[in-house]
Amino acid sequence: MATIVRTRFAPSPTGFMHIGNARTALFAYLYARHCRGRFILRIEDTDQERLVDGAEAAIYRDLKWLGLEWDEGPDVGGPVGPYRCSERYHLYEDHIKRIRKNARVYRCFCSPGQLDQDRKLLSSQNKVIKYVGRCLSISEADSESRAKTDKFVWRMHVPESGESIAIQDKIRGEVKMTPDIIGDFIISRSTGIPVFLFANAVDDAVMEITHVTRGEDHLSNTFRQVLIFRALGYPEPVFAHLPMIGDTDGGKFSKRAGSLSIENLKDEGFIAEGIINYMALLGWSPGDTSETGEKFSKEELVDRFDLDRVHKSRALFDYNKLRFLNQTHLQNRSPEDLAKLVPPSNPKWSGIWKDAVALIQHDISTLNEIHKIESFLEQPDFDSSPMAADVLRTDQNRKIISQGLVSIKEKISSGSSIEEALKDGIKKVGKDLSVKGKELYFPFRMALTGKDAGPELNPLAKLIGSEAVVARLERAVEFGSQTH
Ligand code: GLU
Repeated sequence: MATIVRTRFAPSPTGFMHIGNARTALFAYLYARHCRGRFILRIEDTDQERLVDGAEAAIYRDLKWLGLEWDEGPDVGGPVGPYRCSERYHLYEDHIKRIRKNARVYRCFCSPGQLDQDRKLLSSQNKVIKYVGRCLSISEADSESRAKTDKFVWRMHVPESGESIAIQDKIRGEVKMTPDIIGDFIISRSTGIPVFLFANAVDDAVMEITHVTRGEDHLSNTFRQVLIFRALGYPEPVFAHLPMIGDTDGGKFSKRAGSLSIENLKDEGFIAEGIINYMALLGWSPGDTSETGEKFSKEELVDRFDLDRVHKSRALFDYNKLRFLNQTHLQNRSPEDLAKLVPPSNPKWSGIWKDAVALIQHDISTLNEIHKIESFLEQPDFDSSPMAADVLRTDQNRKIISQGLVSIKEKISSGSSIEEALKDGIKKVGKDLSVKGKELYFPFRMALTGKDAGPELNPLAKLIGSEAVVARLERAVEFGSQTH
């Protein structure tokens, strides 16, 4: 039987979730779902000093909002729990004991000051910065006795002359590193608390993760972790190091990461479908999109996604593309649904709100832009618009609007609907005065909305009703006759 694919997202609760972390979660999720495997959430909270209050809760909240549900995790449990690293110390201790039997692991008593001096010296000699191996030669007996009084860390020895360490990376192919540049690395503190690198490798092994998907910034850890896997006798997972994300303007993405937290994007009015679609394209290529376009639902992504199509090159964050994709997904939603999600600022519009939303739905890129329609629901304020004065105070336009108003009123009193009355009234005045096109319609747009662009006039007229249409046109004529 083929092994079941198991992927994981292993965030550290040290801050908000930004689009970079969320993209890592998404790729692990998509791959697991694509392979009908399992997606695991593991909270890596061993670095107690960096923990941020509320960050763990925010991880659950943001993942749920995005729709990236997990099969195993701290809150839902699972067969290889606990899924919070701070509850797994006993396991790391066992593994430290185990690795000491299988590999050359020794105590290092070097002080931070000494290590700093070593680094400076190596750097001044243009040599690779790594541990110089000072404590490797301390005898076991001396080490035991010094451990009673001195602080120490456990290091794993990496023989310089060994073979290159090779990783089979699903995205980068074979990646190698020669052992002489790695140096003996720390796996645990004297307190028994493992370093991130060790705990993370042990957890991936014990949780039987088959595919480790994470940012390329972890690649240098991976070489050390592979040595840990081998020393512990665990099979190595497949690694897939995802490309980093950069800014299109060449700036550092991390600088903007704050404003690109999932929570902020949600507050700005992005919807989960839009963000998911956009994030999937940050490093993954869907192949030929000439027929489908780049709009994908989560289900379509699950269907298409494969790690083979994740590219090595940096992915560029493009805010406009995020907006564009969000817009395409907003168009899929029903006006009822959108109206419920974004209630009107003023409850007096509740009765017409769904129809108002329908009028603007195709012109918005975020939910928050729905509110733009509100300015069309009120009588326009011509006094504060120099453009309204320019347009409405010409003889020709005043004539167009006042003659139009007469026929519109006639049609209304003879029983036409307001849309018909507006349409026919405008047509008639066009004929009578021999004007057409923009010359004819633009004065009406300005008279009815006070703006040069906006929703179509007929459905807007239907929405605000005949009384409001007549009142706006009357006010426009009156305003047009004033001279200043
Ligand atoms: N806790 C690590 C991080 O947030 C996870 C690294 C990994 O996925 O292996 O960067």
